[in-house]
Amino acid sequence: MENKRLNTSDRLVFVATSDLSGILRDKSFPISQWEKRCHSGLGWTPANAQITCFDTFSDGALGAFGDLALVPDAEMRFTLGQGEDIFDLALGDIRTLAGDPWVCCPRSHARRAIDALKKACGATLLAAFEHEFQIKNVTPRAGDGFGAKGFRDAKGWSGPFLAALAQTSCQPDSFMKEFGPSQYEVTIKPAVGLMAPDNAVILRFLAEDVIASHGAMPSFSPILNPDGIGNGVHIHFSFVNDAGLPLTHDASDPHGMSEMTRHFIGGILHYLDQILAFLAPSEISYLRLQPNRWSAAYNNLGYRDREASVRICPVSTLNPQEIARQFNFEVRSVDAAASPYLAYAALVFAGTQGVKDRIEPPKPTEQDLSVLAEDELAAQGICRLPQTLDKALGRCDHSAAVRGWFGDEFVDLYVANKRGEMAVLSELDWNQKCDRYKDVY
Ligand code: GLU
Ligand code: MG
Repeated sequence: MENKRLNTSDRLVFVATSDLSGILRDKSFPISQWEKRCHSGLGWTPANAQITCFDTFSDGALGAFGDLALVPDAEMRFTLGQGEDIFDLALGDIRTLAGDPWVCCPRSHARRAIDALKKACGATLLAAFEHEFQIKNVTPRAGDGFGAKGFRDAKGWSGPFLAALAQTSCQPDSFMKEFGPSQYEVTIKPAVGLMAPDNAVILRFLAEDVIASHGAMPSFSPILNPDGIGNGVHIHFSFVNDAGLPLTHDASDPHGMSEMTRHFIGGILHYLDQILAFLAPSEISYLRLQPNRWSAAYNNLGYRDREASVRICPVSTLNPQEIARQFNFEVRSVDAAASPYLAYAALVFAGTQGVKDRIEPPKPTEQDLSVLAEDELAAQGICRLPQTLDKALGRCDHSAAVRGWFGDEFVDLYVANKRGEMAVLSELDWNQKCDRYKDVY
């Protein structure tokens, strides 16, 4: 048949899955097939989960065998683009041909984690992802940390980018010129459950699609050069009950945390070294996770401290009625090399375990931890986080807790995928490694 141009009434729907490395992989079909595809999906191969972020194949047993379905989620389909370039983006789940969640589907792990929390304590989770990124194809201005000139340099793309986000489930909260060279930060409003990591996936896609169409090339890579400023992904969490009432705050606690919040944070910090390979999953992530970089070098809780892995965020006290609703805490050790689903799932599984086991977090720190010796840190229940991806993967691989939450098949596949990624970098120096990631993220 003649390859005629699709009109907008039969435009393409891209069904996308964010893979183990947070790379969006997709297949498309004409929208006239929507009902059928919502039911049976599109054919998908298990070996996709063995592709590294550099498009090499990692070791693993999946190979050429097996078949799966990528099934669009009707609640997460958005019409994007303009004029003749209209298309739909739908986020999807990877399922078996019998319709069950596939054991290696990142989105399904996030859904299971949300369900586990709900089952453990009835809480519904809200989360907001705050992304930092840099424009990699411009010469940065000197002296423009948080600068108005840099903010105005973005005038060609910032409006269209924020408008495109607002066409989806991502409601922009704030946008700013960040401190680093050509670095910007965009925050979207908190969303319930799975929509929060979904929104992170959509945001990264739209940044690439819309900002690049205005000639500016964004990079969300954890760090663009070894001495550079890091690009973090800070995830803000809060809880509500079934009636929508906030559960995160308790005014009687010196730092405002409810008992559930304290234990949830306790779980995250207790397991942080074991889940770090899901949060900071590239070799260069560990250039960012150093002391005095406003990232997260220790498994510490901070009260408004930007050097903490988990930070209790400030709330305005102008309207006392609003304090409980605003109260939230932020996980700062994540970067955009991570799958939003896997980072979120790992944090929620660890937090839920903390609630179940009533784990107490270390006392909030109020000092520079980099001046303390190991035993002084240990006395406060704090340790330095793994300093290489290799070490973080080792902790993950040997963690009974992580294997219990995610299953052996998935953990083995994930570790092998990351080891495959490391193999690509083995001959490179740190500048070259940063360049490789800059191209990918
Ligand atoms: N750029 C820092 C990071 O790597 C965060 C700076 C901030 O506090 O916003 O996470
Ligand atoms: Mg920031």
